[in-house]
Amino acid sequence: MPYGDGTGPTGQGPGTGRGMTAGSGRGRMGGNNAGAGPGGNCVCPRCGTKASHVRGVPCFTIKCPQCGTKMTRA
Ligand SMILES: [Zn+2]
Repeated sequence: MPYGDGTGPTGQGPGTGRGMTAGSGRGRMGGNNAGAGPGGNCVCPRCGTKASHVRGVPCFTIKCPQCGTKMTRA
């Protein structure tokens, strides 16, 4: 076989490797806060007792002082 190095210009068309535009990412949505703003109250879904919501502490981690039910966002 007299074929030595295979560095011929075979098979490489013009413009190879284009076409993948790196899409800029979409804005991140903040997570699972259900659209409630900061502050506000938590409310017990069972007896209606309200408690002040502490920012950074989800309402469902707070138990109702009256009945012990986990509170939800008012
Ligand atoms: Zn309650």
